[in-house]
Amino acid sequence: MKLELYTTGDEPRSYPIIQSSLQTKGDETYFMVDAGPEDKLVVVKDGRYHYLDLNHDAAVMLRREFPFTAPSRVLRLDKTLGCGDRLGLATPGHLAALKGTGFAPVLAQQSIRELKLTGRSYEDVLDAATFAVFRLGFQKPWGADGDHLKTFEEIEYALSCGYTMLTLDCSEKIHGGAAAMSDGELAAASPLNPTLAGRYLDRELILPGDFTITFDERSLRECAYTYGDAILFTQDVFECYIKGAARDFELSIDETATPTTPAQHFFVANELAMRGVRLDTLAPRFCGQFQKGIDYIGDLGQFEAELRVHAAIAEQFDYKISVHSGSDKFSIFPIVGRVCAGRYHLKTAGTSWLEAMKLIAQREPALYREVHAFALAHFDEARQYYAVTTDLAKVPPLEALSDTELPALFESSDARQLIHITYGLILSAKDEAGAPLFRPRLYAAWRRHAADYEALLKAHIGNHAAALGKE
Ligand code: ZN
Repeated sequence: MKLELYTTGDEPRSYPIIQSSLQTKGDETYFMVDAGPEDKLVVVKDGRYHYLDLNHDAAVMLRREFPFTAPSRVLRLDKTLGCGDRLGLATPGHLAALKGTGFAPVLAQQSIRELKLTGRSYEDVLDAATFAVFRLGFQKPWGADGDHLKTFEEIEYALSCGYTMLTLDCSEKIHGGAAAMSDGELAAASPLNPTLAGRYLDRELILPGDFTITFDERSLRECAYTYGDAILFTQDVFECYIKGAARDFELSIDETATPTTPAQHFFVANELAMRGVRLDTLAPRFCGQFQKGIDYIGDLGQFEAELRVHAAIAEQFDYKISVHSGSDKFSIFPIVGRVCAGRYHLKTAGTSWLEAMKLIAQREPALYREVHAFALAHFDEARQYYAVTTDLAKVPPLEALSDTELPALFESSDARQLIHITYGLILSAKDEAGAPLFRPRLYAAWRRHAADYEALLKAHIGNHAAALGKE
């Protein structure tokens, strides 16, 4: 169906209406049209057509007029999936993948680091989700996560943009090194007061499933030393921004050098509960390695055994376990689904970027070759920021690959990580004249092949949902 659109002072335009976007409100009609490279929003009011660009004002108006286009709390639902979309293009694929799976999505999810690396803002990340939700007429709850926020300033920025979930990253308040201290050093650094000792020493703390947690003086001092400041900081944040507000609150203690022990997890949870802090999710640092964009590396038996205790602690304190860097961890997905009894949050982000680059390899091989060569040249720069074990010697040289062989690079862990961790450098690369090197060409290609991108994500994120569901 085509509709003639007239706007004052403009030439008549004729664009196809996106049927799934059609909404009426009173005697006004709203819909999007496919206007070439970018969609436009049309508002029909008093018989006149108003033709709007998809900018921040239009997103604010949509969220006001159609509450389903605004984020809301979702973490209290059983299965939730963080669908990080670094490009602002992935929501159609994410929603297609999750349809009928029982997962509620967090469609806007970015950390401050990702904002910087992608040159985006929280407004832009949320607006992209709003437009996609409106376009598709998706009327179920979805969340917006200010991910890995570390300061009051960052929190206020995310909340001022309407984010409904805070992920508090306490890594700067967590003090490492306790395990390496002598008993004397630790006693001096972490004096035990009688209240704390009475709360934890000489008793068995029983969890659902009959797991027990015990502390001795040493382990209690280590917990208090390591997490004391993080607990106080979390309490401050909770009281300022979460208490009495309709917001999801996740505590992330996953960015540490060593795995979170069950006793540490229990200590943090119990101390927070005693201070009246309600969490919706907590992300421990699990055993093994959660490298970006590839499967879990580690002992599956140990992972399952430890996850059982973490899940029991979460159940005791009425929150869900959150799994970070969760994309592509296919070997642990059935374990997560089973052990958490279908109640968990899992975050993905970089894998949707990788699917976008796989699309470039499939459809724009010449452009892919340029980007790949750039990533190789800048890998060491990107590597400083990520714990990855990439072996570039295992990435076949481009000259040896025909165009049709390029997409298969995305089946190799080493090539995946090469493209995964260089995303910020690729998106911000400039030529000698200071003009963007890849970004406009990449975006133009992704828009040209939008249907293919949706299909790739539907399959790939759909595989995540299916593997998690194999409980
Ligand atoms: Zn994390």
